[in-house]
Amino acid sequence: NRQMVLASRPFGAPTADNFNLVQSEKPTPKAGEVLLRTVFLSLDPYMRGRMNDAKSYADPVALNEVMVGGSVCRVEQSNHDDYKIGDWVVAFGGWQDYSVINGSELLKLDSNMVKPSHALGVLGMPGLTAYMGLLDIGQPKAGDTVVVAAATGAVGSLVGQIAKLKGCKVVGIAGGETKCKYAVETLGFDHCLDHKSENLAEQLAEVCSSGIDVYFENVGGKVFDAVMPLLNSCARIPLCGLISQYNATELPSGPDRLSLLMGTLLVKRIKMQGFIVFDDYGHRYNEFSEQMVKWLMAGEIKYKEHMIDGLENSVSAFIGLLKGENFGKLVVRVGPD
Ligand code: NDP
Repeated sequence: NRQMVLASRPFGAPTADNFNLVQSEKPTPKAGEVLLRTVFLSLDPYMRGRMNDAKSYADPVALNEVMVGGSVCRVEQSNHDDYKIGDWVVAFGGWQDYSVINGSELLKLDSNMVKPSHALGVLGMPGLTAYMGLLDIGQPKAGDTVVVAAATGAVGSLVGQIAKLKGCKVVGIAGGETKCKYAVETLGFDHCLDHKSENLAEQLAEVCSSGIDVYFENVGGKVFDAVMPLLNSCARIPLCGLISQYNATELPSGPDRLSLLMGTLLVKRIKMQGFIVFDDYGHRYNEFSEQMVKWLMAGEIKYKEHMIDGLENSVSAFIGLLKGENFGKLVVRVGPD
């Protein structure tokens, strides 16, 4: 059983030295437990936070413990009545070939599911995040201007497409020409701007000529600086992620803009609300998945996976995720179907 463990805690961007691939015995399931073989492992930005020894909404990964992560697995041995050998399940199995998990903590997938890995993306955690963050907190109305950053990623690509389905004008912000072209030509966004360009703020002001009604925040930093002056009265900001800050080792350089932000929120009566998807919306998964399945079957939502092969390549892929090297939902194929 190969396991990717946290060897040391990063200072700034993680490096390969922070991880170690070790071998261990295949675990044995006890009563009520199931032995799972990982087929697909999801790599997600929140994992960077788990590498820090800091209090957050979830505990950090301990040193020399297996990195945590969502996975799609095959049942290899079962001591739980609801599961039999060969079943596809979604688990929180971590970066390893095999895991043992109590059957009560698993979600069984339909055996006819064409792409089981989609349970880690469009039909899983990122999909639920996009759907609930946008619709429940963002409250988009037809005609609104919705801006979303990390626009071609797992969450952002869905936020923009759902906003289009609700009749909004959608402006994406992404890294580089290829991603921006994809957001407009394939995902159907009205515009997509490159956050690496010199004059993002001017370009954004030009395409958001009626201001911004909903800003779905995935990124923070310079992108938020460009968005803030354009927010309309009563704008909504689902505060989903701040990936540009995850590797930061100190506060951003001055001047301090906190009072500017608070003044803007006050006088424009803006609602900015953070959320943690499973804590806030886990109980609404079925409502989301019913709708998303319909949209997918009708061809109204496009979904792109960035699939890489081999557990041993998960470290470089994860490091790349924090630098924008992924194009679509990042998934590792750990073993054969
Ligand atoms: P993505 O698939 O979008 O991948 C991350 C992307 O972030 C990169 O491809 C890159 O896109 C962008 N990025 C990375 N570094 C920077 C930077 N310095 N400045 C600007 N953009 C950057 O990831 P997800 O869709 O899985 O996650 C998107 C966000 O949603 C993250 O912040 C994540 O933490 C958050 N999240 C929050 C949840 C919650 O419950 N609150 C649940 C799930 C996700 P590009 O090349 O376009 O810049």
